[in-house]
Amino acid sequence: MSSKAKILLVYTGGTIGMSKDFETGALKAFNFGKLIQKIPEIKQLECEIESISFEHPIDSSNMNPEMWTKIAAIIEENYNAYDGFVVLHGSDTMSYSASALSFMLENLAKPVVFTGSQLPIGDLRTDAKENLITAIQIASLQENGKPVITEVCLYFEYKLYRGNRTSKVNAEHFKAFTAPNYPELVESGVHLTLNRHLFLPVNKDAKLIVHKNLDNHVAIIKMFPGMSEIVLASILETKGLRGIILETYGSGNAPTEDWFLNLIEKAIKSGMHIVNVTQCSGGSVNMGQYETSTALKSLGVISGKDITTEAAITKLMYLLGHNIPQNEFKDIFETALRGEISL
Ligand code: ASP
Repeated sequence: MSSKAKILLVYTGGTIGMSKDFETGALKAFNFGKLIQKIPEIKQLECEIESISFEHPIDSSNMNPEMWTKIAAIIEENYNAYDGFVVLHGSDTMSYSASALSFMLENLAKPVVFTGSQLPIGDLRTDAKENLITAIQIASLQENGKPVITEVCLYFEYKLYRGNRTSKVNAEHFKAFTAPNYPELVESGVHLTLNRHLFLPVNKDAKLIVHKNLDNHVAIIKMFPGMSEIVLASILETKGLRGIILETYGSGNAPTEDWFLNLIEKAIKSGMHIVNVTQCSGGSVNMGQYETSTALKSLGVISGKDITTEAAITKLMYLLGHNIPQNEFKDIFETALRGEISL
C-alpha cells in the first residue's frame, strides 16, 4: 500500500478557476480540468491527488445550504478513501461555507481545507498557486499514518485558520481573511510552523456524523443609530422566522428604549432565538458589562461571545435543524461545538 497521503480536491468554483468572458469582460467559472492543467507543479507534491468538481461551478455569491449539503455529501462519500480534502471555493462566502461545514461534519478526524484566490489561476500575478499548493501540502501532513490536522480550516496567503473563526475583510489585498479572535493554526514561511496547541482535539474512536439538516428561517440584523421600530417589527414578525443574529455595538450593547426592548421581549416570548454578536471585527459580547446590555441579558438573549457573524448564522441554521428543546437551546448555542467560540 502506498504511504503517500491521498487528497481529494473538491472544486466548487470561485475566482481561482475563472476566466474572462470576451463579450462582457466579467470573470466566470470554467471547467476544472483546465485548472489542473494550469498548475503542472502540483504533480511534484508528495501525495496522490484526485479531483471532483461541481457540475456547474459557481461564483460563491451563489452559495447556499443545498450546496453546503452537496459538499458535505462529497466528503462523506469519499471519507474512507482519502486522507484529506481541499475545497476550492470563491473567497466571497468562503468563511460562511467553512463555518457551515465545521458544524455539519461532527467527529471529523481528517483535514478539510478551504482555499481559493483573489486572482484567477491563469493570471501572471496569481495568488492561486501558492494557496492551492500549500493547502494541499497541509492537508497531506501525517504523523504515524494519521492526519495532523483534523478540522475544517481555511488557507489563504500563508496562513491556515480555523474556518469558523474567519471573516473576509479585504477585496483587494491577497491577505483577504482574518481570524480576529483566534490565532492561525499554521503559518507558511520557509517552513510550515504548526501551532499544535491551538488544534482541535480529535476523538479517534468517534465516527464521522454528517448533519445535512439546516434550517434557514433565520436573519441577521445589524443595529445602527436610527433603526426604526417599524422596520425591526416587520423583520421580527416575518412568518416562519425562528432565529436572529443581532449585530450589536461594542461588547453587545443596544438601545435601552422601550420600543426596542419590548419587540425583543415579544419575539423571545413567541419562541424566537435571538443571538447577540458584536459588529466589531474583534472582541467579545459581554452582556451586563454596560447598562445598555443588561436588559438584553435578562430577557434571555443568547450571548454569541466572540463568535463571528458567519459562524453564528450557520450555527443557528445547524442547531435549528435539530429538535433541540426550547429551554436547552441557549446553553447549547453558548457552548463551543467546533472551537468557534472562546469560553
Ligand atoms: N466572486 C468570487 C467568488 O467568491 C471571488 C473569489 O473567488 O475570490 O466566487
